[in-house]
Amino acid sequence: MSEKNTADLNEIENRIQIACDIAEKKRSEVELIAVSKRQELQRVQAVLDSGIRCFGENQVQEALTRWLPLKTIYSDITLHLIGALQSNKAADAVRLFDVIHTIDRDKIAKTLSNEMQKQNKNLSCFIQINTGLEPQKAGIEPKQAVEFARCCIHDYGLSIAGFMCIPPIDDDASPHFAFLSHLAKKAGLSGLSMGMSADFEEAIKLGATHIRIGSALFGDRAY
Ligand SMILES: *Cc1c(COP(=O)(O)O)cnc(C)c1O
Repeated sequence: MSEKNTADLNEIENRIQIACDIAEKKRSEVELIAVSKRQELQRVQAVLDSGIRCFGENQVQEALTRWLPLKTIYSDITLHLIGALQSNKAADAVRLFDVIHTIDRDKIAKTLSNEMQKQNKNLSCFIQINTGLEPQKAGIEPKQAVEFARCCIHDYGLSIAGFMCIPPIDDDASPHFAFLSHLAKKAGLSGLSMGMSADFEEAIKLGATHIRIGSALFGDRAY
């Protein structure tokens, strides 16, 4: 298991580097987030052994169970919340995570702002944009993105790094990445959280600053 993951990491690092070369970006300008949700501990351990310290989880409870113990062993871990956040989990999320990618509605922006003040923390955040206008998917409508970002920054005092998207499963992802980049420019934001196992190279070519890779790094999820 450990060997397999190391090989996977080398291959993914090569692919990231090639995409960075094409995009004329430095490798250090793209953050690889290893998405460890629903992976067995031994796989996570193998990725930790390979030196990766930046991880993504999509559920607060699962992340707490896994990372509270691991954080006592590895002091330099950075944790990214990449899944929907319920208001009643905001306190735990602010306590555990370093970056939140999924501000997707006014209420959670307000709640996070209050919670960060209470805990005297200032997490970096991304606003999730529903670029595909999918009714079942979380996120701010593209036409409200710029105004919502302004509100998060100026009214709620949040540190907004940029925008995040999850393109519709059956669409070519590239137009969504290009659109997200366009919206971020309009909002004056430089961070772009986009690209997963199937499409991270396209995302880098279109300006991704944070790529979220799960299965290509760890293998298929357990459930
Ligand atoms: C699970 C997940 C990923 C990783 O997906 P893979 O296809 O396994 O790379 C990335 N982003 C979000 C928001 C996810 O929920």
